[in-house]
Amino acid sequence: VEHYLQRIEEEKHLNAFVEVFGEEARQEAARITEKIAAGSAGRLAGMVIGIKDIICYKSHGVSVGSKILENYKSIFSSTVVERLLAEDAIIIGRLNCDEFAMGGSNENSFYGPVKNYVDNTKVAGGSSGGSAVAVQAGLCLAALGTDTGGSVRQPAAFCGVVGVKPTYGRVSRHGIVAYASSFDQVGPLANSVEDAALILEIIAGPDEYDSTVSLKPVPSYSGNLKSSGKKKIAILSEVLEAEGLDPEIKQLTENTIARLKGDGHTVEAVSFPYLEYVVPTYYILTTAEASSNLARYDGVHYGYRSPNATDLESTYKKSRTEGFGAEVKRRIMIGTFVLSAGYYDSFYGKAQKVRQLIRAKTDEILSKYDFILMPTTPTPAFGIGEKMSDPVVMYLADIFTVQASLAGIPAVSLPLGNNSNNLPLGIQFLGKRFGEGDLLAFSKYIM
Ligand code: GLN
Repeated sequence: VEHYLQRIEEEKHLNAFVEVFGEEARQEAARITEKIAAGSAGRLAGMVIGIKDIICYKSHGVSVGSKILENYKSIFSSTVVERLLAEDAIIIGRLNCDEFAMGGSNENSFYGPVKNYVDNTKVAGGSSGGSAVAVQAGLCLAALGTDTGGSVRQPAAFCGVVGVKPTYGRVSRHGIVAYASSFDQVGPLANSVEDAALILEIIAGPDEYDSTVSLKPVPSYSGNLKSSGKKKIAILSEVLEAEGLDPEIKQLTENTIARLKGDGHTVEAVSFPYLEYVVPTYYILTTAEASSNLARYDGVHYGYRSPNATDLESTYKKSRTEGFGAEVKRRIMIGTFVLSAGYYDSFYGKAQKVRQLIRAKTDEILSKYDFILMPTTPTPAFGIGEKMSDPVVMYLADIFTVQASLAGIPAVSLPLGNNSNNLPLGIQFLGKRFGEGDLLAFSKYIM
């Protein structure tokens, strides 16, 4: 704990933490040290973990990168936090993220951007940018993030760490501030597949507080990390042809394919004719869900209340106007539009149907192949400020991560190389629904 607290202090300029629970972490360390001596410590004893500032931890702040929740304190703990604590993990602080997890660069945070540790002029990725940089820079051993459309995998790729997005319904969302409820999943970021597997198996599994969590028992991921047999892996032909794919990322993908073939695995190109629809479908559905989820920030129930309000109507209006940042407002407007009478059928209803097609096609591919391989991102970490002026350019950068989110399947990003400027590059593997075990074992083999 002392080591990490010192590291956090040294790297304060990275802006990874919104709050450090220093004294509390020291006390926990002392308590758990005694448990270790007594032989009664949990399975995460000694693991110092940071949590994305979207995960509720009783009596601690949770601001989700927003002014609207700046001074808000959780009144209960999320299921994932309860499970980490029950196994004696030490939670060292809460990590910066894009406001309401909306973004892919951590530049939408009320607390400012997080800097990439390799190159401080580059973004960390997002929305779980603080989680990725904290692991990258050694400010904690592992971190929790959330992934709605890539927010664990994309910052993991930009920062050279392992990131896992579980199957939708594998991990409880109880106590996770909602962005888009039919997509959101909590996932670990770590330096090794072993750490990610152990954390995932502890946070996963049935929860009486979230009816969307599957009742399927959680296998021991960490105890079964030996991948056996030759695998069948699909690459999507449209992916390697995608416009704007960075040549060094393409090369790394091809090298990975060659390596897998060399090891005797089958790698085949299959067509996925919906690639151009994944980003629009994702943004219609997630903004719709967000506009509904964010209706609760009304200046009355909790969070920021404008001091300039004079009646109920102006309390709503001014609190939301002053409390939300530009990107969140943009998405509330898009979401409200696609749900509005007269437009619902042509946008929201249509996108629901396209989601089903994407899901069915992805499942069909995964009925014939063990995994789908693709880059995590089309480019390495870009410059801070570089894409902020054009939201559409920023959205299109999610092209490779949102398919797994729309389909609800698990996916990992693995740090398999660096570019010529030493920036990390991530390769992504998508697995079968609830196939985290095989996916993690294969990840371990390929790392
Ligand atoms: N970049 C995507 C978005 O802005 C993903 C965010 C996420 O997964 N939370 O919606």
